[in-house]
Amino acid sequence: MKMNSYNIAIVGATGAVGEEILNVLDEMKFPVNALLPLASAKSAGERVEFRGEEYVVKELTETTFDENEIDIAFFSAGGSVSAHFAPLAAASGAVVIDNTSHFRMQENVPLVVPECNPQDIEKWRETGIIANPNCSTIQMVQILKPLDDAFDIERVDVSTYQATSGAGKKGMEELVMQLQSFFAFKLDECEPHVFQHRIAMNVIPHIDVFKDNGYTKEEMKMVNETQKILHKNFPVSATCVRVPVLRSHSEAITIKFKKDFNLERVREVLCSAPSVVVVDNPAQNEYPMPLNASDTNETYVGRIRRDNFDEKILHLWCCADQIRVGAATNAVRIAMKWIENN
Ligand code: NAP
Repeated sequence: MKMNSYNIAIVGATGAVGEEILNVLDEMKFPVNALLPLASAKSAGERVEFRGEEYVVKELTETTFDENEIDIAFFSAGGSVSAHFAPLAAASGAVVIDNTSHFRMQENVPLVVPECNPQDIEKWRETGIIANPNCSTIQMVQILKPLDDAFDIERVDVSTYQATSGAGKKGMEELVMQLQSFFAFKLDECEPHVFQHRIAMNVIPHIDVFKDNGYTKEEMKMVNETQKILHKNFPVSATCVRVPVLRSHSEAITIKFKKDFNLERVREVLCSAPSVVVVDNPAQNEYPMPLNASDTNETYVGRIRRDNFDEKILHLWCCADQIRVGAATNAVRIAMKWIENN
């Protein structure tokens, strides 16, 4: 390791999240000494660009981390790859920042959104691994944390409107191909492969597998991860829905508070929350939308209103680029905090 500059590995460098990690590292002027892009044998030999230079993608193998002196390893190649290779990376001395769900709920692994629980990063020493939360959870807790500090949350209900790129590059491609086939009147070419049903011109209330309690795994991630990140046990109920949007997740969130609130103070709290931008001017048709959130590092919140029947309930709407805010940007922000602390 060069002084104040780090050797970085990106596992899944050819994927939707991996590519975005490269962009965010560059934009945030991350101190990179050496870069090692990794993927499966299928993409070995491909090239990725970083700061004007081309890097050859290498195959991730059992010996990768022994043969390379990596300081920080970003993992975004799926849970089974992380399960096997992240401990090898950690054993070689790297800190792992993992985008998959594999380690998130493991008690000795910190689950971190730097705007909410940066203090938990310190726990990385126990395993060498820091987990990045689920994309829908990250944008929600960035909003819940400051509101909970101010008004004490009693309960949260959320419905998500999740973009196809949440299922990786293949998800995005499936929407584009199906739309092309649909408008060419070739409905027989709209067979679903990535999603359970046709996503073009449709909405699917089903992300990940169903559990015995009737919720999906994606929905339970939002419940369990929110409680772990905020160190709170207020009830959360989620309905996660896939929509035919390419990029950026949206969420309709209903929050019941224990304390009284007024809308002016809610807006002040959200305006001063880190990484949150209030866009709430219905008179001018201004509210957050996926199109505007895409390719940015902020979570946008609007449609802020009190419930018609219960004065302790607040409703709002938020959008964020889930490949950035929900994955790459959060991971790089974790790495920057980790550097600050170490
Ligand atoms: P993706 O676009 O499908 O990319 C997957 C990446 O993993 C590719 O670079 C692929 O390389 C690599 N990979 C697959 N199998 C591998 C193996 N055996 N060894 C090494 N590399 C392998 O998926 P993604 O959307 O980037 O998601 C990656 C992970 O991040 C997933 O666990 C996902 O749940 C999580 N995540 C995704 C999002 C999102 O919005 N997309 C948000 C948060 C978290 P090849 O090119 O060689 O196949």
